[in-house]
Amino acid sequence: MKTIYLDNAATTPVRAEVLEELLPYYKDEYGNPSTVYGLARSPKKALDTAAGRVAALINARPEEIFFTGCGTESDNWAVFGAAWARAAKGRHIITSAIEHHAVLHVCQALEKSGFEVTYLPVGENGIVSADDLKNAIRPDTTLITVMFANNEIGTIQPIKEIGAIARANGILFHTDAVQAFGHVPIDVADMNIDMLSASAHKLYAPKGVGMLYIRKGVKISNLMYGGAQERGKRPGTENVAGIAAFGRAAELMMGEMPAESARLAALRDKLIRGLLEIPYTRLNGDPVKRLPGNANVSFEFIEGESILLHLDMNGICASSGSACTSGSLDPSHVLLALGLKHEKAHGSIRFSLGMFNTEEDVDAVLKALPPIVRKLRDMSPLYEVMTK
Ligand SMILES: *Cc1c(COP(=O)(O)O)cnc(C)c1O
Repeated sequence: MKTIYLDNAATTPVRAEVLEELLPYYKDEYGNPSTVYGLARSPKKALDTAAGRVAALINARPEEIFFTGCGTESDNWAVFGAAWARAAKGRHIITSAIEHHAVLHVCQALEKSGFEVTYLPVGENGIVSADDLKNAIRPDTTLITVMFANNEIGTIQPIKEIGAIARANGILFHTDAVQAFGHVPIDVADMNIDMLSASAHKLYAPKGVGMLYIRKGVKISNLMYGGAQERGKRPGTENVAGIAAFGRAAELMMGEMPAESARLAALRDKLIRGLLEIPYTRLNGDPVKRLPGNANVSFEFIEGESILLHLDMNGICASSGSACTSGSLDPSHVLLALGLKHEKAHGSIRFSLGMFNTEEDVDAVLKALPPIVRKLRDMSPLYEVMTK
């Protein structure tokens, strides 16, 4: 049976061009870029090339790109680093209720050490309001961290507006753009973004590589101490192969993004239309301001986990909640923030499309899913009570 992979928000396969870029650094070009001899030349150059390619995709400068071990590390570094560096000025941070745990759990840790955090609510479409943000700002606010695009429901936040508000108030602005980087246009200058997190494995490159863009002149504390790599700000021998691969993936997406995002959005909309034809369903997130590959739908009266198992029997990989929270029985904090009742949040499925998906994949889901939902509802006492 063919596998239909519709979980590209959890991770993506490494594309062939990227694998080709990566392999030499595991073979002949193995030198440590911090050494002085000739063998270091090619790995060192690979780091510079990758920084240039990653920077170009967001209109940053190569010297503003710092490679890390993953998106989670970039988020931790940005939030802890900014909070610590500015603690003398103030100890108040603003974020949103629907952040990835890589930001939320950092905020919770900071609260335990004397910081105060405001968690902005979202509307039922999953978007924060600029007025709520303005009202949350205090004289001691030092950081605003709001994600570019949500990993579960795909909603895209008004980043340019948030950036302008942060700038006008002299507050640092970080955005977790792990889901957005390479998938939607980002311009850190135009959008007044001071720090931005991205991760290679959400963009057809390997796992275990991330980056943090830090605007020139912005000072944040280190998360780690050690060697002089990444201008002394992120020590540890560089993952040269992974970084080179990340750069190549960014370069490829720069050319492909306009056409690819339009193609994905058309597939997504076909998928959403088809899913909503099933009775007692709702689309989670904004219908328009959403990632081109994201469809998240709640199926009332049944459990997301059961739907996933049945989809898996049909070779279809999808997700309920995020990869990080599934496995726990708590409904997703993102869906609850939309105002969904626990029952509805439980029956939610995320399909995330990527460059290797085709219209046949969408058709296969739309064929497989209705009988699965019918079967599960026939076994659901809740469905019986609520609809008969
Ligand atoms: C995947 C993801 C992360 C974590 O990135 P890793 O590289 O897997 O650590 C952070 N934020 C968002 C929005 C994500 O989707």
